[in-house]
Amino acid sequence: MVRATVPTIGILALQGGYSEHVASFRRIGVAGRQVRSPKDLDGLHGLVLPGGESTAIGLLAESSGLIGPLRSWREAGRPVWGTCAGMIMLADQVLGQKEGGQSLIGGLDITVSRNHFGGQLHSFEAAIYSPLVNAASARGVFIRAPAIIEVGERAEPVATLADGTCVGVRQGFLLATAFHPELTADDRWHRIFLDMVLRSTSSGRQS
Ligand code: GLN
Repeated sequence: MVRATVPTIGILALQGGYSEHVASFRRIGVAGRQVRSPKDLDGLHGLVLPGGESTAIGLLAESSGLIGPLRSWREAGRPVWGTCAGMIMLADQVLGQKEGGQSLIGGLDITVSRNHFGGQLHSFEAAIYSPLVNAASARGVFIRAPAIIEVGERAEPVATLADGTCVGVRQGFLLATAFHPELTADDRWHRIFLDMVLRSTSSGRQS
């Protein structure tokens, strides 16, 4: 077992907003490693699946040989945080998939509606209500965002909009947010995930 005081967090870097996550983690003193091939997963303590386009991320994960290793990595119970498209990748059920279906990782006991709020023009910013982040100041940036329309027994809602729409869940060492904390200066969600990673390493989940 490795007891890492400063963990290394991998950011899936096939498509989408990975560099923003790397920058957010750097601001809180964590080294982010871009993950483009299966060997990049070696020795990581946590993994982030960024926003972007879930269909493209799925295709690239297939062609780079990462989809199987990503599924195994998640199945081993290691910490994974999906933002937006990354949340879609982690969902067990996805409504509004591209025709013929798309490659997913799965694991989260939720049903996600893929382009719940409409297209690019329906991007917006809104207040987030969460038991994990204190304050009315918490805001989320939503870009062609999904929403969680059903939360299964194993998952727990951790972020909602004012109208009660669920936009964030946690399940064991899995975290998913429909919004993009990496596009704001608010690093609290990155700290929440870092905390999950540290708890996972100290509980001996890492080898
Ligand atoms: N709705 C997009 C998808 O299907 C996700 C949008 C985003 O990540 N900003 O992948």
